[in-house]
Amino acid sequence: MVDLEGQTASIRPQIDEAIARVLDSSRYIGGEEVMSFENELSTELDGAFVTSCANGTDALQIALMALGVETDDEIIVPAFTFISPVEVIALLGAKPVLVDVYPDTFNIDCEAVESAITDRTKAVIAVHLFGQCADMGKLCSIAKKHDIKLIEDTAQAISSIYCDEKNMSGKAGTIGDIGTTSFFPSKNLGCFGDGGAIITTSETLAQSCQTICNHGSEIRYSHSEVGVNSRLDSIQAAILRVKLKNLKDYNQARRQAAARYDSLLESIPGITVPHRNKRSSHVFHQYTIQIDPSITDNKSIKEELQLADIPSAIYYPAPIHEQKAYNLLDYKEGDFPVSEKLSKTVLSLPMHTELSAEQQEYIADRLKEAIKKWI
Ligand SMILES: *Cc1c(COP(=O)(O)O)cnc(C)c1O
Repeated sequence: MVDLEGQTASIRPQIDEAIARVLDSSRYIGGEEVMSFENELSTELDGAFVTSCANGTDALQIALMALGVETDDEIIVPAFTFISPVEVIALLGAKPVLVDVYPDTFNIDCEAVESAITDRTKAVIAVHLFGQCADMGKLCSIAKKHDIKLIEDTAQAISSIYCDEKNMSGKAGTIGDIGTTSFFPSKNLGCFGDGGAIITTSETLAQSCQTICNHGSEIRYSHSEVGVNSRLDSIQAAILRVKLKNLKDYNQARRQAAARYDSLLESIPGITVPHRNKRSSHVFHQYTIQIDPSITDNKSIKEELQLADIPSAIYYPAPIHEQKAYNLLDYKEGDFPVSEKLSKTVLSLPMHTELSAEQQEYIADRLKEAIKKWI
């Protein structure tokens, strides 16, 4: 699905140099590398404040804590997503309120968000799925109208740009009240372990995130609030500084690979190529096609591709309300029809910065043959 080996080989001398710099400094926690990385990512994100932390799930938890989320607050979140945003709501004792997603972009359905708002609603988490932004213009106006907070989970969409008809624009994570991201190795900006960050244009919120990350402490051994221990290692920061310099090229390589897939796959019956939201650029964390359910399901095609040694993945094979851990939310089958349908139709193909035209042609040919078996 990804080719981390190939990507690392292309920047190996700079990576070796970065790691050696950290070893020579013996500064493994905090220090110059972490500070410089935060500043450099801030520049990439048009000056928003960046607070690094241990991973993208922590980033979400810290963001909710900074916004003052408390027990029994309701937080609206999509039913079709990676588990992290739902998990952290539950961990803080708040209540995840699920809503469905749009069938074309897979992003949170804004009308459903507005219908789900009650007087207990504290915030909504928009997950910018697979690399393009949710409809931030609509979400911002809903959030403003109902006085609720807007969180952007941009773990899959770092550097994606939102821009709508009303000229509301900005990079993913900098538009709502607070954004979060992950540097998990396979993300568009990935390190060699775990890492994450919280992004915000509010200096007050940024300060609060920093305090929470550091055991709720601004002055050593003085704890003004309940915090956590969540840090980006200096070695990971040094590695990320190298990778950040290449992020534009990485995203461009992904876009180019996506365009090649489009032209190879568009004519195959039963396959829908990824829809592009005209209000967002796409950084293709995933290239996710849909298999026409009247032909077959995603699992069958995945198995067929596997026989030809082609990896593919179903993100996500079950919506949140079908997960055992969240049975207590008391949803039932049929509550989120789009999410339920997507879990049976979506299929993500190999997508990374090193994908060659030959590889993609091979994948497209095998995919065509796989589909033919059911037609
Ligand atoms: C990867 C991911 C996360 C979690 O990131 P970790 O660093 O693995 O904790 C959260 N949300 C989304 C949408 C993700 O894709």
